[in-house]
Amino acid sequence: MPAIAAAMLIFAATGCGESGNNNTDSGKAKYIFLFIGDGMGANHVATAESYLSYKEGKLGGEQLVFTGFPYYGTATNFSADKHVTCSAASGTAIACGSKTYNSKLGTDVNGEKLRSMAYDLKDDGYKIGIITTVPVNHATPGAFYANVQNRGEYYSVSCQIPDSGFDFFAGSGFIDYRDKDGNARPVDEYIEEKGYKVCYGPEEFQENRTEYDKIVFCQESNRSENADNYVGDGKEAEDATLSQMLEMGMDFIGSDSPFFFMCEGGKIDWTAHENKTMPMVMDMLEFNDAVKVAYDFYLGHPDETLIVVTADHETGGLSLGCGRETINWEKMEAEWIEGGRKNMLDEKKNMELNKECSIGWTTHSHTGSPVPVFAIGKGAEKFSGRMDNTDIKGKIL
Ligand SMILES: [Zn+2]
Repeated sequence: MPAIAAAMLIFAATGCGESGNNNTDSGKAKYIFLFIGDGMGANHVATAESYLSYKEGKLGGEQLVFTGFPYYGTATNFSADKHVTCSAASGTAIACGSKTYNSKLGTDVNGEKLRSMAYDLKDDGYKIGIITTVPVNHATPGAFYANVQNRGEYYSVSCQIPDSGFDFFAGSGFIDYRDKDGNARPVDEYIEEKGYKVCYGPEEFQENRTEYDKIVFCQESNRSENADNYVGDGKEAEDATLSQMLEMGMDFIGSDSPFFFMCEGGKIDWTAHENKTMPMVMDMLEFNDAVKVAYDFYLGHPDETLIVVTADHETGGLSLGCGRETINWEKMEAEWIEGGRKNMLDEKKNMELNKECSIGWTTHSHTGSPVPVFAIGKGAEKFSGRMDNTDIKGKIL
């Protein structure tokens, strides 16, 4: 009898699995937020928390929102050909679940197109939002909607925005408003011809949000094709923050349908490349503020929401402590904040400051260190323990 019972159970389980594809409850969270801190290693998180603790007059103990999440893991991030990945290969690994060569974006080692999780979710009825603090055609956001042989094909990446059919894009602007020979239409015109509205600044977004069902938001400061997209030390003062862009996207998409937001803190990587400690911490705090927006939403929909916070790779080989037992946050803060965030310390002075304050940076490049993964909500337990960046797509789906 037990054997028959067991066989029946196996049969029932198999039957259930087979019909599971047609089941309306696939087990996926209805609302999914994937946050990617570009270049955010474990020590970027620790350094930001050390600064927050200093602000409270403590050595430690203050936390970012996401380090309080109940599930924690690490993700390896080597690419198909290198120990150290670039953002294109790691973005592709996260979005599409496949290793590829550095510089390839949404295409595999043979040049074949890969499929990002955002397309799978769209097919399942999810509304899709792709948000970043850097240009919308940069590698990390691009990995979720574009397929090119090289991440530098920026114009081609942008032109795939309307083809995606995704609902909301937001970022600083575009790299390459025209194609390489400069003859093509400005990319915003091209995107608008395809039925999207490109809004520069929150005001234009508010004016158009009810008239269009597909929007690309860009910062007001990047309105013209001559705008400088690279703002080295954080954002321009008047620019919308990552959390404001996420709020716009959530407001635009609403919560009647299921949704997926990929939300990138892209400048954590840029400031880390320059080994600029205080601007990097500010970018971490901006990123944290955006996670807080999702966390507040989660609190209202705890059974239906999944939030995953991770990184594509580590940048800078950062260490909290470098030769001295005390981090001199007072001096670090005074040099950067009293001089303003745009205070461009020259490289020599910056490196001296890092050393004096005991913040260690070993490189201006990426490293192959594993990155942290934090998760809360429906299915979050899948993100605990050791994983590879190619596992993230499957876990979310
Ligand atoms: Zn980088």
